[in-house]
Order: sequence, then C-alpha cells, then structure tokens
Amino acid sequence: MRIFVGSGPCHLPSREFVSAIAHVPLGSEARPLAVAIVGAGPAGFFAADALIKQSDVAVRVDIFNRLPTPYGLVRDGVAPDHQEIKAVTRAFDRVAADPRVRYFGNVTFGRDIHRDELRKLYHQVVYAVGAPTDRRMGIPGEDLDGSLPATAFVGWYNGLPDYADLDPDLSGERAVVVGNGNVAVDVARMLVKSVDALARTDMALYAVEAFRESRVKEVVVLGRRGPAQAAFTTPELRELGALEGVDVVVDPEDLELDGASRAYVEGDRTAGRNMERLEEFAARTPDPANRRLVLKFLTSPVEILEDGEGRVSAVRVERNELVQAQDGSMRPRGSGRFDTIACSLVLRSVGYRCAPLPGVPFDEGRAVLANEGGRVTDGARGPVLPGEYVVGWAKRGPSGVIGTNKADARDTVLRMLEDLPALDASGADAAPPDGVERTLDQRDVVVVRWPDWERMDAVERARGEALDRPRVKCCTVAEMLEAIEGN
Ligand code: NAP
Repeated sequence: MRIFVGSGPCHLPSREFVSAIAHVPLGSEARPLAVAIVGAGPAGFFAADALIKQSDVAVRVDIFNRLPTPYGLVRDGVAPDHQEIKAVTRAFDRVAADPRVRYFGNVTFGRDIHRDELRKLYHQVVYAVGAPTDRRMGIPGEDLDGSLPATAFVGWYNGLPDYADLDPDLSGERAVVVGNGNVAVDVARMLVKSVDALARTDMALYAVEAFRESRVKEVVVLGRRGPAQAAFTTPELRELGALEGVDVVVDPEDLELDGASRAYVEGDRTAGRNMERLEEFAARTPDPANRRLVLKFLTSPVEILEDGEGRVSAVRVERNELVQAQDGSMRPRGSGRFDTIACSLVLRSVGYRCAPLPGVPFDEGRAVLANEGGRVTDGARGPVLPGEYVVGWAKRGPSGVIGTNKADARDTVLRMLEDLPALDASGADAAPPDGVERTLDQRDVVVVRWPDWERMDAVERARGEALDRPRVKCCTVAEMLEAIEGN
C-alpha cells in the first residue's frame, strides 16, 4: 500500500492510508499518538518525558529545535558557574535515547516547518518555545549604546549564537544592573567574579577573554522596591557574599522596613533569610582594594543619559517610597528625589518576555501564547484550538526554576490525553513518521539529529578537557555544523 502522497512540500497521509487506519483506535500500538514538540528546552523535554512515561496510550514524539544544540536555557541561560544545575540534561538525554523520541535540531518553526504543516503531520502539537526576548523599562535612553538587556548579555557569555557578536563595553569602571531577580544577581556576579574561576566554567571563551580585559570595578544593582520585595533567592545572595575579592555593599538605611514589609518578612521564609543575609552584608567593613557590588533598594531608573556620542554615560534615578496597592502588595512610588549614577554599561534585568510564534495566537495582555491551562486558544479568552498545546514560560510567563516546568508540562500532557477521544472522533490523523523527514528534506534543511548532537557534544567536551573546563562551546551555527561534519 502506498501510504502517503509525495508530491507536495508537506507529506500528508493519503486517503487510502486514512481509511486503512480509521478503525484502529488512536493511541494503540498500531496507531500511536503522534506529537510534535516545538522547542528542546526544559519545558519541551519535560513534556516529552511525561508523554513517554504515561502508560495509557502508545506515543511517538518528535522534538523540533531552532538551534542545532538542545537544552534551551540550561545550555544558554543557566550561569556557567552553576554547572551542577546543568546535570538535569542527563534526564533529558534519557528522554532523547528513548526509541519513541526523535530530535530535529536546526529547524526553525515558521521558516523550515510551518504551523499548518505540523497540524497535519501530527495529531497534537506542543509549543515549548520559552520567552526569548526581554521586557522593556519604557524610559528615555533605553536603546543607547551600552544599554543592553540582561537576556542578551546572558546569551553572550553563554555562547548563544544569536548574541555571539554582542561585544559589551566593559571598559568603564562602573556598571548598573536594573532589577532584583536571580538573573540580575547572575549578571552582576559575572561582572565581578574572578576571571580565573570563570575560565574553569563552560563560559564562551571569547567572554572569558572579554572579562579578563574588563575594567569594571563596581556594579550597582537597582531594586525599585525594598529588600523585602526582592525576587532573588537566598542561596544566590549568599553566593554574592562569598565572592573572592568582592565587597557586597548595602546601606543599612535601605534595610529599615515599613510595617507591612516587616510583617511580610516575618511570614515569608525566603524574604526573612534574605533580610538576615543583607543585614550581615550591611555590617561588613569594605576593603578599598576589592571590587564592589552595591545593592541599592527603593531606586528606579528614570532616564539613561548619553555622553554626546550616543553612548551611555549615566543613569538618572529616583528614590521611591512604598505604597500599599488594593491587592495588599507594596508598590513603588517616586518620591521626587533624584540622583545620577555615572556608568558606561547598563544591564536591564527586568524579566524575560515571550515572543509571538508565526501563525500561533498570542495573548498580548499576558505576553504568552494564547492558552487556557495549556490548551492553545484562538486569542485571549477565545475558543480552544483542538490539537495545539503550550508548556513552560510560553504558557505561564517567565517565572520559576527549571524544575517548575516538570509539573507544568505534566499538567498540559494530562489535558492532551483527556482530549484524545474527541480528537479521534473528529477523524484527525497524522502522517507516517517519515512524512516530516521528507518535508524537511525537500526544503534542503540541514537537520541535526540526536547522534549528530552527541558528536558535537563529544567535540566540545574534548576541547574542554585540554583546558581543564567542562567544554569549549561552539558559538555559531556554522561552527556547530562543522564540529558535527568533521567527526
Ligand atoms: P524576575 O524574578 O521576575 O525578576 C525581575 C525583576 O525585575 C524584579 O525584581 C522586578 O521588580 C524588576 N523589574 C521589573 N520591571 C521593572 C522596572 N520597570 N524597573 C525596575 N525593575 C523592574 O525575573 P528574572 O530575574 O529575569 O528571572 C526569571 C526567572 O528565572 C525567575 O523565576 C528566576 O528565579 C529564575 N532564575 C533562577 C535562577 C536560579 O535559580 N539561580 C537564575 C536565573 C533565573 P518588581 O518585583 O518590583 O516587579
């Protein structure tokens, strides 16, 4: 039996094929549920893991990824000096090794493969595309040379091909980091940490060299609210206090809390421990020979000033007071007292932002792919679009740690399974497994399969071994493909 039509760019099931399998229940061994997952970061891998671990239905899962390299933010976002967090990739490797799972790297959704094609090739599609862009502060000067989103800076030092050419200016003595989340802590730490320590991580080699040449002596981290409302967590704060040759400077006045903040700190473990840590920092005597990491609270940037040549020269800031909002949360309000902090680099670390995907409804209000509990909807509050799902940051916004995505993905997978009877009844079907391969082949896409990635991984590790570091990353797609082809 000829099972699919091979003339069009997208290889769909033929009428004969559809009628031959129509009586076989969807999810049986003879007719496994075919799922496409777009994105090979933690959310995508946890979704694949949940699919292969359930025992109700037979499945086959194809994971598509824009870059040749898998693991998303675990490779490109997690700080290079936090190698232990990257151990989660061993679990992802076990998923990829499962015979029901296939990996298609170097495939861009919306260019190499399209939404309507995936909808026809698979029974269900899961978007696991994360939050690849940054939130804006909305102040004058935000786009001056020397003002960078922390997301780009993180990508740069992690060797993410999109930012390999960022070339941040580290020639000035002071940098300002805006934001009080764990990403702000990460980027501040990179700016002051000993380069010899960074050299032993998997940081991109060009970034190690740039940090070696860096003249940054002081990093000022700005929180628009008080220490009680900071989003960073205590281990990250503790790590700052233990950095060799670095003073963490906190003004004791910043730690004087209003009544509501004090009550919050007393009832919240993380906020309480953060306060203890900050009080300990405030009591330290700085060493003038050290680099300085200044944690400044209740301070908002209101304008980034330029030096006359389009470059950052300073940040104008306003001191804030906290006011209680109707929902009980403490919000910042400008006090009318301004100050100026001279600097040549500003890293805006005010959160990641999900970006629209070609053809997939986007909810502008929540800045996520439009969805209701992981089921894609036709716009915010629109009807559910059967067969399309979303997991991770693209579903709920950029919050939580890597492990948060496990329960999140499991939850979406439960809904996918719940929807199977209706999907089967609708007569929707998938193409055979080689349908997608033929589609990509016809477009001459250079697909990176899992064994290709394993070869590249071996090359990176071997290069790293020679330099006593975990790996030397390939930092452009061309370099990645070369490493694969040459081995
Ligand atoms: P985040 O935790 O949401 O923090 C964003 C910070 O930006 C908050 O302090 C927020 O202040 C501030 N902010 C937002 N808009 C601002 C504005 N216009 N002006 C000044 N400040 C503004 O985001 P993130 O740091 O990007 O981290 C994303 C997620 O990844 C978090 O869940 C984080 O814990 C996780 N992560 C974890 C680790 C780790 O475990 N080591 C490392 C990196 C990231 P308000 O609170 O006042 O809004």
